[in-house]
This record gives sequence, C-alpha cells and structure tokens, in this order.
Amino acid sequence: MNLVFASHNLNKTKEIAQLIGNSMSIQSLDEIGCLDEIIENGNTLRENASIKSNFIFSNYKMNCFADDTGLLVESLNNEPGVFSARYAGEQKNADDNMNLLLKKLDGISNRRAKFVTVISLIIDGVESFFEGELCGEIITEKKGTKGFGYDPIFMPDSYSITLAEMDMNEKNKISHRAIAFNKLKNYLLEKEC
Ligand code: IMP
Repeated sequence: MNLVFASHNLNKTKEIAQLIGNSMSIQSLDEIGCLDEIIENGNTLRENASIKSNFIFSNYKMNCFADDTGLLVESLNNEPGVFSARYAGEQKNADDNMNLLLKKLDGISNRRAKFVTVISLIIDGVESFFEGELCGEIITEKKGTKGFGYDPIFMPDSYSITLAEMDMNEKNKISHRAIAFNKLKNYLLEKEC
C-alpha cells in the first residue's frame, strides 16, 4: 500500500517509514509535489491531525496520514497543548518554551503532565484516529541534553530520569509517538490480511 505522510520533514518521514515497516511505501509531501504549508489552526491535536490529512486527501485523492503532538499540563488547564511548539512565541524555541512553562508552574505542587500524539489516517475517504500517551511530571529544572522539545523537564512515571537523559532507543520504546504509530502499524497490518 502507498501512503502519504502529511509532513515536509523528510527525516521524520524516513523515521516513521522505518517504524511502520517495509510492507508500506511512505511518501512525504515534497515527494508528491505538495509544497503548501498546511495551516494547523485547530483547537485540539485531533483537529490539527485531521486538518492535515484531509487537506491531502481532498487535494490529491491519495491515502494518507498526519500526526500532531502536544504536552498537556494538568494544573495549567492542559496548556500548552496545540501550542506546544510555539508556547513562548513564533520563534518556536525549546528553551524559551521550557522557561515559560517552569515559570508558570512556579509554586504549584501539582506537576502532572502527559504527552499526547494523535494520528489521523484516511484510506479511501474513511478517517480513523490512533492515540498514544506518556504520563509523567514536570520537574523544577532542566536535566539532560538528549532528545528535543520539552524532554529535559519531563520525567515519565516510574522513571527517575528525564526523557533528555534517556537513550533514544529507550525513549522510542515508551514514547507517546511510538505508542500511536504502533497502533497505526498494527491496524495497517490487519487490514492487509
Ligand atoms: P509535533 O506535532 O510532533 O511537531 O510536536 C509539536 C511540539 O510538541 C514540538 O515542537 C515539541 O515542542 C513538543 N513535542 C512533541 N513531541 C515531543 C517529545 O517527544 N519530547 C518533547 N517535546 C515534544
């Protein structure tokens, strides 16, 4: 089966193609000649994933999928959520985002948070959703240098290190993204039978 991944990021597309396995052929937006920047103006991760996949299906009539991820902090009314990438501004800087989050949580004892990934898949016009979650706590200072985004301040449940102190292989076993993409992979494998 041929599937378009609604992303311009070729590295991310390759990584996801590997995760899904070689029974599927995955193409990025650039590979199908789509150079448009799809505006993600939904209010939820699900809406944003759906906006991206529906844009591809309605314009190119190709089977496709899109993902959206965010960090949801319980005591901040699930902020930053859909604004995770640009929480501290359009410069989309990870350090600025973490500093803002740490400032907002200053003095707050409930530091529960979760990463959520939502995938929207469209096959022959039928849309399905897959979700993955990773629960944990926002610690009070940055620790570790690996990973990206909010990894240095996120400590997953039953771990005493942050995602930024974890090897990539280990993170990929437990991450929200891995959980969501494994669900997608299993669905596609079942569908093929
Ligand atoms: P995207 O939807 O995958 O582009 O993720 C949106 C934003 O969420 C990123 O820019 C990061 O700030 C944050 N984010 C997503 N996944 C992770 C992760 O695994 N670790 C830390 N931050 C993440």
